[in-house]
This record gives sequence, structure tokens and C-alpha cells, in this order.
Amino acid sequence: MESRTRLLLRQLPSVDELLQEPSIRVMVQTLPRWAVVDAIREVLERRRRTIATGQSESAPEDPLSRTALIIETQQIALRLHRPALRRLINATGVVIHTNLGRAPLAEVAVERIVEVARGYSNLEYDIERGDRGSRQAHVERLLCRLTEAEAALAVNNNAAAVLLAINTLAEGKDVIVSRGELVEIGDSFRIPDIMRRAGGILREVGTTNRTYLRDYEDAIGTTSAMLLKVHTSNFRIQGFASQVPIAELVSLGEKAGLPVVEDVGSGALIDLSQIGLSREPMPSESIRVGADLVTFSGDKLLGGPQAGLIVGKRLLVEKLRRNPLARAVRIDKLTLAALEATLRLYLDEGQAFSRIPVLRALAMPLQEIEQRARLLRDRIVALASGHLEVSVVEGTSEVGGGALPLEAIPTRLVAVQAAHLTAPVLEGRLHRTDPPVMVRIKGDRIILDPRTVQEDELDTLANLVASVATCS
Ligand SMILES: *Cc1c(COP(=O)(O)O)cnc(C)c1O
Repeated sequence: MESRTRLLLRQLPSVDELLQEPSIRVMVQTLPRWAVVDAIREVLERRRRTIATGQSESAPEDPLSRTALIIETQQIALRLHRPALRRLINATGVVIHTNLGRAPLAEVAVERIVEVARGYSNLEYDIERGDRGSRQAHVERLLCRLTEAEAALAVNNNAAAVLLAINTLAEGKDVIVSRGELVEIGDSFRIPDIMRRAGGILREVGTTNRTYLRDYEDAIGTTSAMLLKVHTSNFRIQGFASQVPIAELVSLGEKAGLPVVEDVGSGALIDLSQIGLSREPMPSESIRVGADLVTFSGDKLLGGPQAGLIVGKRLLVEKLRRNPLARAVRIDKLTLAALEATLRLYLDEGQAFSRIPVLRALAMPLQEIEQRARLLRDRIVALASGHLEVSVVEGTSEVGGGALPLEAIPTRLVAVQAAHLTAPVLEGRLHRTDPPVMVRIKGDRIILDPRTVQEDELDTLANLVASVATCS
């Protein structure tokens, strides 16, 4: 090792030495000691790396600067002290943002979580009969009513629902799937991988762009166990393309004596064409034409908590329920509380549209968005005129969550440009506010979409944008 490097390393203070620094002793009075100690260790480790590699990424010119060391320690200690999983403001206009927690819950769903979390509950106790009950009972009737199915089962998420269906009905046997439906849904959910892990043998048929009923027919043999249809949630093949409708697969399945399972992905319980969006497959439609099982997510278009919903024929649902894997992917009581509350809102479409945040955001009239955008602009201008140029512009929002990927919903955006700060710098600062703010960047401006900002967040958002623009 070079002698200068060794010299510098030796000059770094020890943890104990830093803990004796007056400003760090003050820090320990307001922040927990463990957080300060961990922060000091992290800063010292960073400095050692900087010195050893001779590179200073964000570190100060002088790696031994006491002031810089202390400031960094405080920043890290603060970060360690506050909860890691936090609320933030989503101004991106992506309604179901997987990285930002997908669906915000309806107020009543939140209330039910709190109520059930706080005490004991009849999770698996049938009060009427005075005997052990099933946790599924709390949502099964609702799911059946809303999808017109005979039976229903709720699990941890839709990936688990697909896994459970394949494992139960096709372990060691062939599952016939169209090549055009071998999808990857973000974050490593890929049909071929899930198939393998579930013990099913993938039997691909057709081509990427075209699959015919006879392709399925030709593939059916003694080792076949099920026909699987998967909704291509997050992409569309356009042009010379066709897939076999679920109704035709059902007829084939009946003829061949094979169950037909459909993963519809998002699971719209309401026809979204009434708010001007393209149609997403609805579980009730697949059930009506005779699909044996249909699976979908709870926290995409449905607007509830993370969950996987399986609806369909009673005999098959019972089979899935008896699979030991069902226990490994079972839904927890807090999710169940939120899911029940959300499903109840669907019993009245008006209630669903006005009280489920995802639906409310998607159905929000342009005038209302325009109004919110102007309000936001005016507040920002009032707080930070001279530092920022703020205007209301036309643009589009996205559904997100791998649903309706081609849909661009007209919206009104607030575009913000700072006189002396670039858009990435402004964005970076907004990520570090409390709560953090997520935005889009367009050219040299940051873009705020009021569609995904909750009503009571508008003031906070204006304050945060103004504050990051006016501080030096
Ligand atoms: C989103 C999606 C999944 C995964 O659902 P999770 O609830 O995120 O596990 C599976 N299949 C399709 C078609 C999807 O769109």
C-alpha cells in the first residue's frame, strides 16, 4: 500500500473518538445512540474506501474533514432513525405504481385494518356455530357475488394464485399455453419459471403473434392436465396477431376433459369502458363462459390490498384449498380485513367509483384535474415566485401496474422550472423531503400530475416544491 494512503487511514478518527466530539454528543441527546454509532461506522467505512481507492465520489476533497464527517453522520443517523418504509407523495400520474405500493386503500379499508389489527377477531371462528371457521368465509360470498363464480379463494398475491393452481391441477403433467402468452410481469414473475417451480410441464403452442384453437387441440394428449390462458397485461401485440378467446378454450377443455384456467392479471370488477378506458378482461366474463378457474390481483385495478383471488368451480377451488401449499401462500388477517371492505364497496358501483382511490383517480373528470392543477400552480407561485416558473400544461397519465399499457389518459400537469436548478437536481431534492415526492421529468422541467396526488396532499406538495426551490 502506498504510504500516503496508509498515513491517511491512520489519521481517521475512531468511533469512540468521534462519540466524544461535542456536536456528536449533542446528536446523541436527540437521536438514539445506536443510530449515531451505526452512522459513524458507515461514514468511517466510506472514508476508508475513498482513501483506499483514491476516488472521492461524493466525499469532500479532504477525506479527513471533521465537519464533513459530522454532517454526514447526522444525515445517516436521521435516516436510520426514521421508519424505512414510509408514505410518500406520488405526483407521477402513474395510478397503479408497483414501485410506489400499487393501490392506495379506501378509507374504510384502512379503518377495518386498524380495527382488526388492534385486537382479537373471529378470523377462523364461526361465531354463529360456536365452532372453528375458515378465514376464507369473510370474502368468499362477496367474491362469488361479484364474479358470478361458485367458489372463491384468496391467497397472498396473484403469482401465488397461479402457482397454486398449476401445482394442484398439473403437477408432473403438461400445461398447454400459447407462445403469445408466455409473459413476464415485472419483478421476475415469468410464466415459464412459475410453471417449473409449480411442477407443471410447459407445453407451448402456436407462435408469438398467432395461436389457433387447433394448436391447442393438436397438443392435447395423455399427459395433458390443463389449458392455461394468460392475459398479456403489460404489453400488446399489434398487427397480424390473434389469440384464442376464453370461450373457445372452454369448449375445447370440456371436450377433452381438461380444466381451463385463466390468469386475467388485473381483475377489473367493473367495466372500465364506462369511464372511457379500454376494457380489461373481467373475471365475471370468463366465469360466465365457463372458465374453471380465474385468477387476478387484489391491488391492481381492483384497488384493494395485495392479494391473489381465485374464483371458479367449487370442486377445483376445494382441491386448491386442500393443497398444503395453500397454507404457505395464505392471506393474512389485515389483508383480509382490507379486502373485505374494498369488495363491499363494489356492491354499489357508485360507491366503488367514489371511494376506491384507484377508481376515483382513473375516473377523475378533466375539469377537476385542471382545477387542482391551477390550485397547485397558484400555491407554488405564491410561495416561490421569482425562483420558479410554473405553468399548467396538457399531458397524459398512465394506469400502470401492468394494466392497459397503451392507455394514455388526458390530464393537466403542473410544469415547474427553476431559475438556477436543473430538473434532475430539483427531482433529487424532492426525493429527500419529508414526505418524499415522486415526479416526472420532461426536458428541463419537473412535471406534477394532480391525478395521483390525494386531495389533502396538495398543500404539502406546494410547500415542498417551493421549499426545495427557494433553499440554496
Ligand atoms: C400482475 C400479474 C401477475 C402477478 O400478480 P401479483 O398480484 O403481482 O402477484 C400475474 N399475472 C398477470 C397476467 C399479471 O398481470
